[in-house]
Amino acid sequence: MSMPKTLKRVLMGPGPSDVDPRVLEALSRPTIGHLDPEFLNILNEIRSLLQCTFQTKNEMTLAMSGTGSAGMETCVVNLIEPGDPMLVCINGVFGMRMADVARRCGADVTTLEIEWGKVFDPGQIRQALQKKAAKVIGIVHAETSTGACQPIEDISKIVHEHGALLLVDTVTSLGGMKVDVDGWQIDACYSGSQKCLSCPPGLAPVTFGDAAVKVIENRKTKVQSWYLDLTMIRQYWGSERLYHHTAPINMNYAMLEALKIVKEEGLENRWARHLQNHQILKAGLSTIGIHYVAQPGHELPMLNAVSIPSGAGDAAVRRQLLNEFNIEIGGGLGAFKGKVWRVGLMGSASTLSNVMLFLSALEKCLLDQGIKFDRGASIAAAAEKASQL
Ligand SMILES: *Cc1c(COP(=O)(O)O)cnc(C)c1O
Repeated sequence: MSMPKTLKRVLMGPGPSDVDPRVLEALSRPTIGHLDPEFLNILNEIRSLLQCTFQTKNEMTLAMSGTGSAGMETCVVNLIEPGDPMLVCINGVFGMRMADVARRCGADVTTLEIEWGKVFDPGQIRQALQKKAAKVIGIVHAETSTGACQPIEDISKIVHEHGALLLVDTVTSLGGMKVDVDGWQIDACYSGSQKCLSCPPGLAPVTFGDAAVKVIENRKTKVQSWYLDLTMIRQYWGSERLYHHTAPINMNYAMLEALKIVKEEGLENRWARHLQNHQILKAGLSTIGIHYVAQPGHELPMLNAVSIPSGAGDAAVRRQLLNEFNIEIGGGLGAFKGKVWRVGLMGSASTLSNVMLFLSALEKCLLDQGIKFDRGASIAAAAEKASQL
């Protein structure tokens, strides 16, 4: 079966998110060489816009070839040498993935695990570091599997008091809520192109502060991954312009356009838009008895993880949303499989019209399943909330 040329979904899952037509247009421009001076200018512009988006002056800021997981692996593999102790904080799928990556890189991994949906308290991190020192502490800012937002600032202080490096996953948060790499003193940070930056999947922005760069420069062993070795890649992104691997040219066009859109909107405006649409959706959902699974007060604005109402078929509702309304939402992962829906409001998909469209579509699907509530209640509550904001 071939894909209809015009198939257009509303992407309200955990990523990828809807891509702006300007970004799709950029993607289709003629491919040029990876050492063409015009392309090298594009890389410089991407670095400077990524610095703005990450809120950092870090010189080592670039877009790695690959998706968000390549960003994760880049950070870990460059900072870790075999046997180095690393503490990984786990409260969902992506913390688990980071621990897996770290073990494969040869780290001596200690995990700190709490219930899914909960966030870490700085005291828990202090206790873990007192028990066993670590070179790197890895933590997820926006845990896409649970919809929980982890406060970073206080944890950063504790990590640095213990002389360790802080590595933060901002795949889902970057471009959708505050990420302040310099202000929060994050040493290494990675993201992905297809969540709140609304670019197709394929690039992983990363940034490294001075202390992290020093660790990379003073390595005693070669970086285990040839492809992700920043000691070589920095010579392509830097002034040497040494060939390492062929940059995905058109993906970089797309990334540049996506970052320009972020800049035009303004970071603060973009965060406010994500927050407002989340609040409107939440007002609608809670009116029909659908509740968030993240720790109260820590719900992510761009990823709404909610309990599936009892009596509703998980797969049936998601299939109906897709087939009847062209709306994609995500199911639960791991411990939340079959129990949770994940409704994304990421990047250009975070709009009032998507919220209203989703609520009306969801009401129809739930009514078809025999779930009882006042028809139209979620839409009325959302509309009321929207007019108050
Ligand atoms: C999506 C995601 C990743 C992985 O990114 P891919 O692009 O799927 O490789 C990592 N961490 C978090 C928090 C994510 O949401």
